[in-house]
Amino acid sequence: MPTLPLAPDPSAPALDPRPGLSGLAPDELAGWFTERGEPAYRARQVGDAVWGRSATSVDEIRTLPAPLREAIDGAFRFDTVGDTELRLSDGGLTEKGLHRLSDGTLIESVLMHYPARGAMRERHTLCISSQGGCAVGCPFCATGELGFGRDLETAEIVDQVRHAARRLNAAGQRLTNVVFMGMGEPLANYGPVKTALEILTAEWGYAISPRRITVSTVGLAPAVARLIAETGVNLAVSLSASTDVQRDRLMPVNRRYPLAVLLNACRELPLPRRKRITFEYVLLAGENDADADAHRLVRLLHGLRVKLNLIPFNPFPDAGFAPSPRARILRFQAILRAQGIGATIRESRGQDIQAACGQLAAARPAA
Ligand code: SAH
Ligand code: SF4
Repeated sequence: MPTLPLAPDPSAPALDPRPGLSGLAPDELAGWFTERGEPAYRARQVGDAVWGRSATSVDEIRTLPAPLREAIDGAFRFDTVGDTELRLSDGGLTEKGLHRLSDGTLIESVLMHYPARGAMRERHTLCISSQGGCAVGCPFCATGELGFGRDLETAEIVDQVRHAARRLNAAGQRLTNVVFMGMGEPLANYGPVKTALEILTAEWGYAISPRRITVSTVGLAPAVARLIAETGVNLAVSLSASTDVQRDRLMPVNRRYPLAVLLNACRELPLPRRKRITFEYVLLAGENDADADAHRLVRLLHGLRVKLNLIPFNPFPDAGFAPSPRARILRFQAILRAQGIGATIRESRGQDIQAACGQLAAARPAA
């Protein structure tokens, strides 16, 4: 295992009790200024700096009087992911940010650049974390193997975006897409994730269309329904099995929300017309990649508007699983396609810097 410059610090202080500024809703921010007898435009000045310019410190807001800057600094953390190490890969097209939070918790985000191709415009997609570690414990996932640390606060989620937006803006580029596919189960940290989504989509925030945001979940059925009712984001459900026996083993949450319950919840979602649910399927050699699995999937997904995202397994030390051979993946895809299911194979990014799916925590120091 490589040693990390940003290894967890056992002597790290307790979490800084000041709330992160970027996680406040605008009315909360405005309320803070009004309570101090400050004019309303102060909140806008701060909001413009925090979300509009992704400023790193209150000192960058030169329009504020010094005593007010000091008061803000005393009340809030301005940047919760300030301590960040960046690693580049794929010729600079993939950037992994390893962030140390104020209590020593390590989380990661990955920024992926997709150059323009044909009619497709260039895209800059950020993959972010919603928790430090994950409690769900899927055995094929490095984060799951790491165990649960803690939920992230709203600002700790938004600051991953601010960090990437700042780097993009400096290069004259814009963040176009955000995916919640980093560390953690977003729907197990529902409140902060939902507030972060509001900030990412609001005009006064990042103004990213919900159509360009995807939340990936292991399938906590009640929270899936709530997410769709309350936000317009895209849903990706990690399926990775075609029977309950398989899924119990690969995704222990299946014992609580078995396939029938999960898929029924998906069937009842008030999905807007033309919108599809993405199902993610990590292909594990000899576990869930047989022709029979593909055929069972077709039956399971019958009647649902779906896209299937086939994810080649990214191995990590002692994972106990192996990636399916390429020919098997292609055959699996062909069976699905022949039955009318749009199945794509996800290209892997940043494997040399452990930035690929499910590897976000793999570079942890050996236990
Ligand atoms: N907890 C959420 C989001 C984070 S995981 C979820 O499970 O959906 C994001 C995606 O990475 C999931 O589809 C998950 O199945 C996949 N994944 C996890 N470990 C992986 C690995 N080692 N190789 C490939 N994909 C993996
Ligand atoms: Fe958690 Fe998702 Fe990893 Fe499962 S796959 S352990 S839910 S992060």
